Amino acid sequence: MAISEPGAGADPRRMSTRANWDGRNWVLNGRKIWISKAAEAEFTIAMAVASRDGANGGITAFLVDKGTPGFNILRRIPMIGGQFTYEIAFEDCKLPPEAVLGGEGQGFAPMQKRLSVRRLQMGSWCVGIAQRALDILIEHASQRTTFGSLLAQRQTIQWWAADAATKIHATRLMVYDAARKVDQGREARAELSMIKVYASEMATEVIDKAMQTLGAMGMTKEIPLYLMAEKIRWIRVGEPSGLTWLLACICTTQEARGCHLP
Ligand SMILES: Cc1cc2nc3c(=O)[nH]c(=O)nc-3n(C[C@H](O)[C@H](O)[C@H](O)COP(=O)(O)OP(=O)(O)OC[C@H]3O[C@@H](n4cnc5c(N)ncnc54)[C@H](O)[C@@H]3O)c2cc1C
Repeated sequence: MAISEPGAGADPRRMSTRANWDGRNWVLNGRKIWISKAAEAEFTIAMAVASRDGANGGITAFLVDKGTPGFNILRRIPMIGGQFTYEIAFEDCKLPPEAVLGGEGQGFAPMQKRLSVRRLQMGSWCVGIAQRALDILIEHASQRTTFGSLLAQRQTIQWWAADAATKIHATRLMVYDAARKVDQGREARAELSMIKVYASEMATEVIDKAMQTLGAMGMTKEIPLYLMAEKIRWIRVGEPSGLTWLLACICTTQEARGCHLP
């Protein structure tokens, strides 16, 4: 989904990509940035300010097939976490009327709805990742002895684990609560936004405590804490691409244990 632009990110109403009606087709012009999978996807949902008469219309969603003339990939941008995004340009990109997804000028509400569901996913990912980080913390603290005692017997470490477990539980309940409201068709925008902030900051903190508990082992690339830290960092800003990186976390754990997944 291509929403973000060089001049419009968190505030998409500032977008300047335009779709003008030439009597037969919509003609898109503008630039988008940070677009995940833009070069690989079979189609992109592009958001543009559409107008039939040159006036300022509303935001409209367009389905743009891969390879459509005027849909140009400008560059591939490496992001932290092994992810790539793209900068793209619409240059006199002609689209037929049936490329409009939903109603003309009605693209903003479904886009917000989609981003709301995404926030539920983000919350769930953060709960899962934080739980895995806590498991790693507890496993290590239960085995590592320093100055005559297991780390697990130190009150600092116990507090870290207890705080992490409490916050993971709280986040899980936040996600269930918002998911129930969404399922029931109730308003939950505030709760969903709280989840994005709280869940990602919670997971950041838990991963950090796990890294600290593991000492140098927590700084290696042999266990997935570094992957989790990178991924969570960009969940706090952008749109995660989902299962592929979760799978990468699992693969790294398995490989560190000597199991090589296909
Ligand atoms: C890995 C990744 C993948 C992405 N994939 C896509 C994609 O597929 N499609 C797409 O359209 N976009 C994508 N994005 C872009 C993402 O949606 C934007 O980065 C996000 O909306 C923020 O916009 P921005 O980067 O321009 O930051 P800005 O809008 O410039 O904001 C900068 C910072 O200020 C904060 N901020 C903004 N307004 C306020 C305020 N009122 N008060 C306090 N703080 C504020 C923001 O939260 C942010 O931290 C992706 C981003 C990343 C990192």
